[in-house]
Amino acid sequence: IRERIKRYNIQCDLQEGGVFAAETEKQFHELKAQQARWQKWGNDKLELLDARGVREVVASDRYVGALLDKSGGHIHPLNLALGEAEAIRMQGGQIFEQSAVTSITPGQPALVKTAKGAVKARYIVVAGNAYLGNLVPELAGKSMPCGTQVIATEVLGEERARELLPQNYCLEDCNYLLDYYRTSADHRLIYGGGVVYGARDPADIERLIIPKMLKTFPQLKDVKVEYTWTGNFLLTLSRLPQFGRIGPNIYYMQGYSGHGVTCTHLAGKLLSEVLSGQAERFDAFAKLPHYPFPGGRLFRIPFTAAGAAWYTLRDRLGV
Ligand SMILES: Cc1cc2nc3c(=O)[nH]c(=O)nc-3n(C[C@H](O)[C@H](O)[C@H](O)COP(=O)(O)OP(=O)(O)OC[C@H]3O[C@@H](n4cnc5c(N)ncnc54)[C@H](O)[C@@H]3O)c2cc1C
Repeated sequence: IRERIKRYNIQCDLQEGGVFAAETEKQFHELKAQQARWQKWGNDKLELLDARGVREVVASDRYVGALLDKSGGHIHPLNLALGEAEAIRMQGGQIFEQSAVTSITPGQPALVKTAKGAVKARYIVVAGNAYLGNLVPELAGKSMPCGTQVIATEVLGEERARELLPQNYCLEDCNYLLDYYRTSADHRLIYGGGVVYGARDPADIERLIIPKMLKTFPQLKDVKVEYTWTGNFLLTLSRLPQFGRIGPNIYYMQGYSGHGVTCTHLAGKLLSEVLSGQAERFDAFAKLPHYPFPGGRLFRIPFTAAGAAWYTLRDRLGV
């Protein structure tokens, strides 16, 4: 992502540094193990923060410790996407919005149909993720669309924003149903959390998210919320992304389980390697086994919600 931002001069408010914050000693212990694993794989930008250290990066009493990852960070995702779209256009690519694919007929070339037209394609990449529906039935069974919600406060001003997150890191906690937040370039707090399995739109986003924000930052009780939104991501049972092929010239990449901003970029890079004859790294992902959610299409939502309730209880009890 950093390389693309630089190469195409994309203005998307890149800020370095992401924090994984532990609410319980058990979670902190797991972060220490995480640090050791990631260091083994070459991430030398990690720093463990004890209770005092975490208080220096976030003005909340909620956490007992944290892992700071300076190789992480945050961006304005829409502006990143718009900048990348512009880079595609500049290289002769074309983007057609409002033209949902209604069918794919395999073959060489394959045929893609929309409501008003059809395209013959040498290669197809299926990347509809949580919004793909049943277009490719063999993909639908292995994943589950989920909703998550975000609020943005009124503009807090630079001073108040830096009081909350002095180094302007983004933060996520270690709970099974996690909270995630950051401040924006115009100094709002953007706070997200919660999962709606099955991706139904929640009735009242503020009622869901404001209590989470105030649990972290009770000092914001008088602050107004100006924007709320919801969107869908695609969850896999293993939380690992699904990359693969359907026939020789149809590829798919989906199911980033909430971490698609980085992982979609990896997916794109590996796909470009495949199309230029280097399939090794793509195949490392494609070989990962994926299983359907227990309960089938009918019961997977209540079963998963029950599982999440169990893990949330464990988070609360710190066991
Ligand atoms: C509220 C929210 C907060 C999030 N926060 C984070 C975060 O902090 N960090 C992070 O890493 N990730 C986050 N995510 C997850 C991240 O947004 C996704 O993982 C990522 O967008 C996946 O990218 P994608 O290109 O695979 O799918 P998407 O961005 O969902 O794009 C899929 C596209 O395919 C199109 N499409 C679907 N079906 C068809 C069809 N039949 N024909 C044509 N087009 C079709 C859709 O219209 C859509 O434009 C968040 C998600 C939400 C909803």
